[in-house]
Amino acid sequence: MNIFNNLVKGVCPLCRESATLGQFCYACKEDILASIHYHSPRCSYCQLPLNDKGLCDNCHYYHLSLTVYSAFDYAPPLDSLVLRFKNNGQTHLSTCFAQLIFEQLIKKNHLPDKRTVLIPIPSKKNSLKKRAYNPASLFAKSLAKKLQCQLDLSTLRCRQQANADQKTLSRLDRFVSSRDQYYCSRRVNYTDVILIDDILTTGSTLESASRALLAAGAQNVQAIVIARTITT
Ligand SMILES: [Zn+2]
Ligand SMILES: [Zn+2]
Repeated sequence: MNIFNNLVKGVCPLCRESATLGQFCYACKEDILASIHYHSPRCSYCQLPLNDKGLCDNCHYYHLSLTVYSAFDYAPPLDSLVLRFKNNGQTHLSTCFAQLIFEQLIKKNHLPDKRTVLIPIPSKKNSLKKRAYNPASLFAKSLAKKLQCQLDLSTLRCRQQANADQKTLSRLDRFVSSRDQYYCSRRVNYTDVILIDDILTTGSTLESASRALLAAGAQNVQAIVIARTITT
């Protein structure tokens, strides 16, 4: 019996067929990759699908202080998996997402420099209490391992805010309401930071975190998210 083979064999999280441990099977990977080609071009700041090249209406009015790399759309077949990862405790999926995004970054020649620091968006206290884990943090850990980048889990902090339910707000209202949501606990001397989050909707969370890091001394801030919603 080949023990090594048994160790590296796993099941594909999407179709449950056998696959390399921590990865999607070939067929599911192809489906996921195909799903991102439905919508292009994209807004150059927030990656929203557009009819023409350039910026979406929202980014014309209030564009982000960072560029976002979103490897996938929050659409079938990946959306159900992202939800399972976020809400159903299927934390092992962070490795599969990291592997998938790592392959995309290589393909697009977007691999970050190894001195880049990865910083996940911290969870709000009540979300952390409910889930007992921060999906962005788990994903950041898996991705940092793949990219061999540093990880900073302590500098970026989330303020407790009596926020209205973000889902009911317009994009501009979301930006205003979450403007001061994040802060840094100390000065940083990072040249390149990549913020990590699971799903990108309007970009207001990333924007607030990016501004906090730039104010604390970071020079360049970008973001990587697992998936982007295709409407805002
Ligand atoms: Zn599969
Ligand atoms: Zn945009």
